[in-house]
Amino acid sequence: MYDYLIVGAGLFGAVFASEARKKGKTCLVVEKRGHIGGNIYCEEIEGIQVHRYGAHIFHTSDKKIWEYVNALGEFNNYVNSPVAVYKDELYNLPFNMNTFSKMWGIRTPQEAKEKIASQIEELQITEPKNLEEQALSLVGTDVYEKLIKGYTQKQWGRPCTELPSFIIRRLPLRFTYDNNYFNDRYQGIPTEGYTALVEKLLEGAEVRLNTDYFAEKESLDAQAEKIVFTGMLDEYYQFCYGPLQYRTVRFEAEVLDCDNYQGNAVVNYTDYEVPYTRIIEHKHFVFGKQEKTVISREYSEEWKPGMEPYYPVNDDKNTELFQKYRALADAEERVIFGGRLGAYKYYDMDKVIAAALECAEAELG
Ligand code: FAD
Ligand code: UDP
Repeated sequence: MYDYLIVGAGLFGAVFASEARKKGKTCLVVEKRGHIGGNIYCEEIEGIQVHRYGAHIFHTSDKKIWEYVNALGEFNNYVNSPVAVYKDELYNLPFNMNTFSKMWGIRTPQEAKEKIASQIEELQITEPKNLEEQALSLVGTDVYEKLIKGYTQKQWGRPCTELPSFIIRRLPLRFTYDNNYFNDRYQGIPTEGYTALVEKLLEGAEVRLNTDYFAEKESLDAQAEKIVFTGMLDEYYQFCYGPLQYRTVRFEAEVLDCDNYQGNAVVNYTDYEVPYTRIIEHKHFVFGKQEKTVISREYSEEWKPGMEPYYPVNDDKNTELFQKYRALADAEERVIFGGRLGAYKYYDMDKVIAAALECAEAELG
């Protein structure tokens, strides 16, 4: 008998396992993939740590969480500054004075604000009702048309008029020449890759890979007092109210015989015609000097059973459906639901760690 059966060896499951071990509890972790780490898993190719499930940049404003991850391994001083390619034009992200200067040939914040204000005035949007209206009323028509519209439609597979406005509010908008993609106080990449951090968190727990919980639910449930489930909430309840919607991403990795392909870790392709959303060149996350390079093209697609669910589609319809599953989950006494899939929420890593620590505190004292 174990104290806890943890379903999923991703960040949430691993943080919970680590906290439980500190309290002398025993844990069995089952993971359906052939490796630990969930979506932050990194594998080494040509001496380069490749983020197999998409670029992961750690950023947080929470000092405690920053100290928590630094105690697990060293972080470098990487600052994410993506570049956007729109047809044959190139812009800095997030939306800042470098972007506006290139877009309009202007130089001062005053000029940029006037330009945006004049475009917004023509639109007459009083209360933004969707992502398109929100974006237009923040940055005006030119930035929306070139840097947001095509990328967002590719990313979400829906027109911007059918998407919630909060998605775009994740991105900073500033009137300084500052290309830092995040406003957070702390930022970096673990120099040995993320998998090493998760290995450390799982020390002392028994981990069974290639084990799908649902294939042997009854016998696994019988082996533990309580269950921490970090998979899909709707799947746990056999999709009884119908499936929640997710977006998935197809990653096409390629080893190239050159030492520097695009000069930056992240390059977004913002026009709709280019089929991928972005190209990641992994070595630049850790300032790699290898002779070769590894790049990944990201193609966003609608999730279907059997695919990996990456992004919850947090529109009204899905949020309502999620609440119905949440009510079932709240009534469980033996099962704790957590993580990005359990909460059906777009959680960054720092938020997942904070949620797991909070959950462990409530559970273990
Ligand atoms: P997961 O990592 O999804 O772990 C859940 C685990 O449960 C998986 O390993 C899964 O295989 C396993 N599992 C599911 N069902 C079963 C089952 N039935 N039986 C056994 N095992 C099961 N965050 C940032 O802070 N910065 C970023 O730059 C960033 N970039 C991202 C880019 C992409 C493309 C994506 C998708 C996410 C990104 N994130 C980023 C978010 C980050 O990935 C998550 O916050 C974090 O990985 C969530 O951890 P988790 O444990 O909740 O979920
Ligand atoms: N976005 C955009 N153009 C870009 C980058 C992002 O329009 O070049 C929009 C897009 O709708 C995306 C949202 O901003 O879903 C949030 O971007 P972020 O980089 O946070 O995306 P994620 O981390 O979810 O991949």
